[in-house]
Amino acid sequence: MHDLIIIGGGPAGVAAGIYAARKKLKTVLIAEEIGGQSVVSDGIENWIGTPKISGADLAKSLRAHLDAVKNDMVELALGERVVSLETASGETPKLLRYFAAKLASGKLFEAKAVLVASGAGRRKLAILGAEKFENKGISYCASCDGLLFAGQDVAVIGGGNAGFETALQLLAYAKSVTLIHRHAEFKADATTVEKALAHPNMRVIKNAEPIEIVGDKFVSGLKYKDKDSGEVAEIAVTGIFVEAGVLPNTDFIEKIVACDETKRVKINPHNQRTSVDGIWAAGDCTDELYHQNNIAAGDAVKALEDIYFWIKKQ
Ligand SMILES: Cc1cc2nc3c(=O)[nH]c(=O)nc-3n(C[C@H](O)[C@H](O)[C@H](O)COP(=O)(O)OP(=O)(O)OC[C@H]3O[C@@H](n4cnc5c(N)ncnc54)[C@H](O)[C@@H]3O)c2cc1C
Repeated sequence: MHDLIIIGGGPAGVAAGIYAARKKLKTVLIAEEIGGQSVVSDGIENWIGTPKISGADLAKSLRAHLDAVKNDMVELALGERVVSLETASGETPKLLRYFAAKLASGKLFEAKAVLVASGAGRRKLAILGAEKFENKGISYCASCDGLLFAGQDVAVIGGGNAGFETALQLLAYAKSVTLIHRHAEFKADATTVEKALAHPNMRVIKNAEPIEIVGDKFVSGLKYKDKDSGEVAEIAVTGIFVEAGVLPNTDFIEKIVACDETKRVKINPHNQRTSVDGIWAAGDCTDELYHQNNIAAGDAVKALEDIYFWIKKQ
């Protein structure tokens, strides 16, 4: 029996693992990989204390920090996915209840407390042609696929930070980048928007609803509807990068703890507690308003402070 199960190896899960080790809580950290979502980023410029770091290097430094402190207190179960979390009744007065995490591999881990730090993944595009052309011109990862479109006209769908960061990456080699945004105002940080808009090969189409991906074997264009006039137009592009938001990785927990309408775990922002005593959550899987690496790490630290005192009181 562990004191704590941490589910996730992004900034939230790793921060929690480091604090758990320092607090000498017998912990297992279960994650598909260490690093989290921004691992595909070319340059993260707001990880406090580091002016610029690639997502891959951030993942390496998170792993190095964890390895340096984990000793025999934090066991790593990597390459593993939690498929369900159950509550079980303990048999001694000191342990009336505990939690059991089942993994896709069939393994089972039990603990007194759980921190859910399972983050989020990309929202898929749900328009005509989106499924047909996935990996045939439609991509969800500019760092992985961007170079394939060198010298070509490409589109980015989404006007948040991820959309503009993707556009900036693509501008390094694409002939042109057209960013399609559903609203009149961009959601991305002003500095990121300014940087992208200053590039001569950058175009934006605002108030536009993508409606169809067209092509024969591969993508050749994107149709969209102007939300003001209702007119349908088409741009000729051979690559479409989708940055249409994220979905929380909460399938295994959504029926156990209270979640909001988008399946993000509801937390008490004072201490990261969920609706179930003994389960905490931190990072992008929660209904925290802002999702950033530093926030995910900080919220996990907050959770660990609370978990420590909760476990000591058991
Ligand atoms: C392209 C891109 C660029 C970004 N750039 C920045 C930036 O510059 N600055 C910034 O602050 N933020 C940036 N972000 C946002 C930032 O990456 C997130 O806010 C942050 O990663 C959230 O951390 P997290 O630990 O909550 O979750 P995640 O990073 O999503 O990590 C979740 C972890 O949980 C694991 N996991 C998921 N489900 C399961 C399961 N069922 N079982 C086991 N493990 C599971 C995953 O494998 C992963 O290890 C960017 C995001 C993207 C997509």
